[in-house]
Amino acid sequence: MRLPDQGRTPEELFATMRERKRADADWRGGRTFSLVYPASPEIDEVLTEANLLYLFENALNPARFPSLKQMEDEVVSMTASVLRAPDGAGGSMTSGGTESILMAVKTARDEAGVDSPSLVAPISAHPAFAKAAHYLGIELRQARLDADLRCDVEHALSLVDGSTVLMVGSAPGYPHGVIDPIEELAAAAAERGIAFHTDACLGGFLLPFMERLGHEVPAWDLRVPGVTSISADVHKYGYATKGASVIVHRDRHRLEHQGFLYDAWPGGRYGSRALAGARAASPIAAAWAVMTHLGWEGYRAQVSRILDTVARVREAIGSIDGLHLWGDPVASVLAFGSDSHDIFAVGDVMDDLGWHLDRQSGPDALHMMISPAHDAVVSGFTDDLRRAVEAATVSRGREARYS
Ligand SMILES: *Cc1c(COP(=O)(O)O)cnc(C)c1O
Repeated sequence: MRLPDQGRTPEELFATMRERKRADADWRGGRTFSLVYPASPEIDEVLTEANLLYLFENALNPARFPSLKQMEDEVVSMTASVLRAPDGAGGSMTSGGTESILMAVKTARDEAGVDSPSLVAPISAHPAFAKAAHYLGIELRQARLDADLRCDVEHALSLVDGSTVLMVGSAPGYPHGVIDPIEELAAAAAERGIAFHTDACLGGFLLPFMERLGHEVPAWDLRVPGVTSISADVHKYGYATKGASVIVHRDRHRLEHQGFLYDAWPGGRYGSRALAGARAASPIAAAWAVMTHLGWEGYRAQVSRILDTVARVREAIGSIDGLHLWGDPVASVLAFGSDSHDIFAVGDVMDDLGWHLDRQSGPDALHMMISPAHDAVVSGFTDDLRRAVEAATVSRGREARYS
């Protein structure tokens, strides 16, 4: 497409956008299980208004927009309290989990200051760690998983040496929804004087509320000695619109290593704790609005909806001959496979029935992330899953891909 000579009217261009959008995933109908985290029309209204209110501002220079600085500080401190940060903790907002992870890796690298640094993460860790390692000139060493698909601690420790600046565990990991042995890993890291990052991009706004509901959750947050930083995405189970994540450091002095300061140009002192320069203001506003709207009680209610749906899906998977879960997922993320069927063929039939499940390999699985709004469709889903397993033959060979 070339830039048109004559601009189009808003009516025309919005008609084009609406028409094109019809081919997009129907997340409002609850038929997709990743990328969007639908909760409720009421929450969507809060998000819409917060975004509109800050559509045009720029979060680069907080001195110009003190209301943004205050909201960002409050989002960080509210998140820190949810993650059980001690006094003296500090953090910042970023554009997403990937950027929070990049900042955690940069902080560890610059704090350690060793030549040829390495980081050790389980193979199930999010690709953001590989990306950060690639961007920051760090060697990524991948630890195997144990039989429960959690990080194999012994193997992870065998990869650690004097070059290691960071060890990593997920709470939970994206592929199988299981929590790595954070206590053991973080203790081992602390013993060796190495930073440890808990990736709670997914779990940061789920696990604390599960615990409030009386569920047993393996330790993962800043109450665990040795955990030096945590990433938690407000734009996942915090329900904010995209562009909002938080990194929290146990010790706020580590922010010095996260930041970038520069004054060797004519424009004056330039400081930043993010990858981006100009930053969108609306994600900060959306995160602040949804967090203060929901509070502990609101999040607990959403988590309770999710857990009811998860229980029903797990029961269906357990009762359908030939299907089984991989690992023992702790919250809302499920991966299931089959000993008797081609699980991707099951996925193909589900596609034909209008349900879109992501594929995974090693082990082969269909992947689901349950959101609150899935409670409206769960019985149709489980009926169709039963049907799909009966009808499945040979897979059409759609590859496993995340993006
Ligand atoms: C989504 C996710 C990330 C990356 O977050 P983005 O917001 O997509 O950049 C990192 N870790 C885990 C466990 C995730 O689920």
